[in-house]
Amino acid sequence: MSETVELAVVGAGPCGLGVGVAARQAGLRCVIFDKGPITSAIGMYPTHMTFFSTAERLELGGVPFITAADKPTRRDALKYYRRIVDVFELDVHQYEAVTEICGERGAFRLRTRRKDGDVAEYAARNVVVATGYLDTPRLMGVPGEELPKVFHYYKEGYAYTGEDCLVVGAGNSAVDVALDLFRWGARVTLVHFADVLDPGVKPWILPDITNRIKSGEIAVRWRSRVAEIRPRTVVLRSEATGEREELPNDWVFAMTGYVPEPTLLRQLGVSIDPATGIPCHDRETMETDVPGVFIAGVVAAGYDANKIFIENGREHGPRIVRTIQSR
Ligand SMILES: Cc1cc2nc3c(=O)[nH]c(=O)nc-3n(C[C@H](O)[C@H](O)[C@H](O)COP(=O)(O)OP(=O)(O)OC[C@H]3O[C@@H](n4cnc5c(N)ncnc54)[C@H](O)[C@@H]3O)c2cc1C
Repeated sequence: MSETVELAVVGAGPCGLGVGVAARQAGLRCVIFDKGPITSAIGMYPTHMTFFSTAERLELGGVPFITAADKPTRRDALKYYRRIVDVFELDVHQYEAVTEICGERGAFRLRTRRKDGDVAEYAARNVVVATGYLDTPRLMGVPGEELPKVFHYYKEGYAYTGEDCLVVGAGNSAVDVALDLFRWGARVTLVHFADVLDPGVKPWILPDITNRIKSGEIAVRWRSRVAEIRPRTVVLRSEATGEREELPNDWVFAMTGYVPEPTLLRQLGVSIDPATGIPCHDRETMETDVPGVFIAGVVAAGYDANKIFIENGREHGPRIVRTIQSR
């Protein structure tokens, strides 16, 4: 592209789109790249997932998000964010991955690769990295994790009826998966290193999972970890005694979370706190310690994705645009 744009955004998730909307409202020329389709992370959610947020808390640019139910579904959100792109005529390049960024404020160059293999280069005065976290699962690092029966993402449970399924974790995703598999007639065992569910589990599903565990309908191994995954079994190790237990197993759903992928930020020289994974940035402006490089969305939360999500990550766009306008 011969023209230098004011902002180039990497990632067309809800928070990257939020930057595009704010730029459009301010009359700044902005281009948004995504290596997949628009809001591909939401596309990766479980097929029939319902958000824990109510619709108005996911809105962008003041465009009402109308749903019949109190909380939107994954499908509602996919449709809503597509409409946002139409309504604000955002310049989104789907299926175009940003592979490299170099330069400095006022003169950045972004290299991209399209799905057909073609490469391209773009010029921008400012860059926003809004690359999310869902592409990189937090691995357990155990033998057998590479087996085809192991998943870090979940779609729906019909294919697991009558099968022995292990769910690793005790957060919202793990609980949702365990309940869905149970309702599809799978034999479910949940394994967790602590002896309670995560405190952040949605209050409206807590009674359901608690009763399923109490009644034994969903088996649980508290204070245990996966030691090994084998073709027909899994080996669990007790944190308390170190004792090992082998269970029959057909499928493993490792709902162990996801971590941001730091390559582009590292290329640009942005400092990243090794302990938290948080890129060094000003929380008011979202600018990093490299002038002209901003971050938006969950990537700003580092390893703890529960701190920033759509509800609060959507505020980053207006902050970034205000900062750029003020210069
Ligand atoms: C099951 C589940 C339920 C959730 N429910 C809620 C909820 O109810 N409410 C809420 O507020 N949040 C919820 N969240 C969290 C929410 O999904 C994330 O916080 C949100 O997606 C973060 O938005 P983002 O734009 O920062 O990143 P993402 O949505 O992850 O988008 C990042 C985008 O960057 C793209 N990308 C990455 N690298 C490149 C590259 N090199 N080049 C081009 N593109 C790239 C990716 O393809 C992706 O589309 C939920 C998450 C999950 C997993």
